[in-house]
Amino acid sequence: MKNNLLGLDEMELLQLVESIGEKPFRAKQLYHEIYRRSQLDFQDMTELSKAFRQRLADEFTLTLPEICRRSAAQDGTVKYLFRLEDNKFVEAVFIPEEDRDTLCISSQVGCNIGCKFCMTAQMGLDRNLKVPEILGQVMAVARERNLQRGSFSIVFMGMGEPLQNYKNVMKAFRLMVDPLGMTMSHRKVTVSTSGVVPALRKMHHEKIFPNIAISLNATSNTLRDDLMPLNQKWNLEELMQACREFPIEPRRRIMFEYVMLAGVNDSDADAHALLRLFCGFRPKVNLIPYNPNPGLPFRRPSEERVAQFRDILVNEGVTVFMRKTRGDDIAAACGQLAYMEGVSAGA
Ligand code: SAH
Ligand code: SF4
Repeated sequence: MKNNLLGLDEMELLQLVESIGEKPFRAKQLYHEIYRRSQLDFQDMTELSKAFRQRLADEFTLTLPEICRRSAAQDGTVKYLFRLEDNKFVEAVFIPEEDRDTLCISSQVGCNIGCKFCMTAQMGLDRNLKVPEILGQVMAVARERNLQRGSFSIVFMGMGEPLQNYKNVMKAFRLMVDPLGMTMSHRKVTVSTSGVVPALRKMHHEKIFPNIAISLNATSNTLRDDLMPLNQKWNLEELMQACREFPIEPRRRIMFEYVMLAGVNDSDADAHALLRLFCGFRPKVNLIPYNPNPGLPFRRPSEERVAQFRDILVNEGVTVFMRKTRGDDIAAACGQLAYMEGVSAGA
């Protein structure tokens, strides 16, 4: 099988170009063709000499994961099912919005964090996605929908825990935001994590990092231990401390996600406990009313309950975002992605 060059950075392309006896400047040209011009057919890489193009085509490929199914929701949301080389599947979701579109991508095949309310957890973890599989979701959807650079945001809120696949997620991120490559703004890429504290701390040392969203979902260790078992390893205090120490740029803030589960974490007392956790922060909160999943024992709170919870936070000056649930008729909303043996949850 030919080697896939997608996902190689400039240094790796340089090594490759040198290893086949080509001049070093060819690596820059190749990088530009792949990431800046999104050119995936070597024969169309007009910046390169004909002989070099042929050589590349003979020995290598540039292959995106294959989109094998598209499901469109009433509200315009589209869920894409990707088939990977080894016949595994992941999903990405395109969410059109008035101001800016969002593309929600996956970082792993399944997930082993085991959150009780999440459909992906039911799959367990199969494997980490490789860099071309992460980047490939973005390039494939952008290509098919003819998306302009800068017109959409990327969120790692699909299948998987991105910080359990730190190396590949961060490399894909660097390729996305490289001003000489895909030129996305790092402010338009968000990584959502259930709270893998050592990886969060590692990110403190990166030169450039994405927006961070933390899936909090509970305000006591007792409840969080139960809902999100990784809390037993890195508890709320450790998580909040790692967030406090995060070297946030001025005007950027950490986003805290809070999935509201009726009768579990949606009381006024929970809202006040949340405020106490935020002591010393200027947080943004994303309140997500639970999206129901077949077989899971949770319910979405009433609109009044959600509104009252939100008002308690807002009255204390917390910025609260509440997006309308999108794509739930095709099981594309937060926490509904799963693909098991030909049965895509609800789709
Ligand atoms: N693994 C990462 C990113 C993927 S999950 C994480 O957990 O952050 C993305 C978001 O969906 C998380 O905030 C998670 O708490 C939320 N979520 C999971 N299941 C959900 C459900 N059934 N309804 C609403 N949100 C859910
Ligand atoms: Fe994994 Fe996130 Fe789902 Fe938890 S909510 S099981 S971390 S994908």
